[in-house]
Amino acid sequence: MDYKKAQILRDTLMLIGFVIMFAGYFWNPLAIIGFVIALSCLVPDYLYNKCPHCGKRLGRNAGKFCQHCGKEID
Ligand SMILES: [Zn+2]
Repeated sequence: MDYKKAQILRDTLMLIGFVIMFAGYFWNPLAIIGFVIALSCLVPDYLYNKCPHCGKRLGRNAGKFCQHCGKEID
């Protein structure tokens, strides 16, 4: 998995997690399920959202260059 897919997966999991958490307003267990899903977005972010050159985490960087080493990440 490359960093772009990892970022998309992270944002998707976060969004789904929050939607389910809000549904927990009507049925409480959903709040916990949503919380777990939202937290699971940290996994692809931690494992794959890295610069291919220096290996440091890119965070919310969606640009063309790594903010740590300055090399192109595309
Ligand atoms: Zn880098």
